[in-house]
Amino acid sequence: MNAKPIGPIPADYAGGPQLIVGGRSAADWAAAGTPLYLYDGPAIAARIARFRAAFPSQVVLHYAIKANPFPPLIAAIAPLVDGIDVASAGEMARALAAVPPDAISFAGPGKRDAELAAAISAGVTLNLESEGECARALATGARLGIVPRLAVRVNPDFELRGSGMKMGGRASPFGVDAVRVPALVRHILAAGADWRGFHIYTGSQALSAEAVIEMQGATVALAARLADEIGACPPLVNLGGGFGIPYFPGDIPLDIAAVGAALASALRGLETHYAIELGRWLVGEAGIYLARVIDRKESQGETFLIVDGGLNHHLAATGNFGTVVRRNYPVAVAHRMQDAPEEIVNIVGPLCTPLDRLADRVALPRAEVGDLIAIFASGAYGATASPQAFLGHPPVCETLAAQAPV
Ligand SMILES: *Cc1c(COP(=O)(O)O)cnc(C)c1O
Repeated sequence: MNAKPIGPIPADYAGGPQLIVGGRSAADWAAAGTPLYLYDGPAIAARIARFRAAFPSQVVLHYAIKANPFPPLIAAIAPLVDGIDVASAGEMARALAAVPPDAISFAGPGKRDAELAAAISAGVTLNLESEGECARALATGARLGIVPRLAVRVNPDFELRGSGMKMGGRASPFGVDAVRVPALVRHILAAGADWRGFHIYTGSQALSAEAVIEMQGATVALAARLADEIGACPPLVNLGGGFGIPYFPGDIPLDIAAVGAALASALRGLETHYAIELGRWLVGEAGIYLARVIDRKESQGETFLIVDGGLNHHLAATGNFGTVVRRNYPVAVAHRMQDAPEEIVNIVGPLCTPLDRLADRVALPRAEVGDLIAIFASGAYGATASPQAFLGHPPVCETLAAQAPV
């Protein structure tokens, strides 16, 4: 039986004989309980520094917290970024605990009246998804006696090529079709609201610098064209994000130096302020899911390692969160990082469904009951993107490793 390949283990964690995060072993971190999502704060800070080095200062950085809204993580990231993007009143409350309201923007279709009122009362910018939402926001502002801060999300007439999830270039629940945006912005200005600019988000999980560069160029041009038609300069153009990370065999990291350099040259001479909003790229590779082996069993010539958490905590690693073909995330036995593979195993969670498979026929050193399995690239779309209530197992633990070793 042949092993199937696994995705690339991030270099930060691949070097030693055992997995070390923030100066402590995985076993040490996991002593308080498993399964555990462990987030590496200094690794996130290093990512943000890489972004800053690659992009011109005219481009600010927002954190899209739907990727990972763990409050200690938001608190650690908040001072390092220029804004936080949220997609519900619940996320907005978490963001308000970390940054001032004028650093928050609230996107997402189907905002309830109560959510609009909460955002307007707090002074958070609403990224409007439709004309109807605009009308409700203006009415809510009038009722509250507060001038609402309103940006318009644009459904562009192009999409992000090669991205995992496309959100532009077609009929869409997201944003207002580009051709109707000038009329809507004129309406917002005439109503006396505080127009905050455009939000143009076209997709997620892109690894091709060429595709991102093309998308950003088209986005800058679209914003300029809309501004021309409106006859007013947008205070901020949010260019979206969509920067991907390697998950699977053959995935090559996005060349952000190339993306930054291309954007710098596209923006040369322009006065407008731009933002890039990132979730996954900031936190994804800095998170590790640790689960403990509960049982080893053989069945019809195959070996199964059954661990104490699965798709209930980590839907994405089981291939059930927006993937077409199931492939293996980077995975290792946490105390045997450098050891040669000894066996081919399937790693499954404790749920009574065949969907609950974390790794499919991977070659690993032998793991015994009680050992820790590490799944890498797990910092984004993990705990809150998984059906934790399904089958009634305990919720996953989460910990931020805040300090680099001294
Ligand atoms: C999901 C989302 C993001 C974050 O996407 P990542 O792929 O995690 O960077 C940013 N902006 C909007 C509008 C989103 O819907």
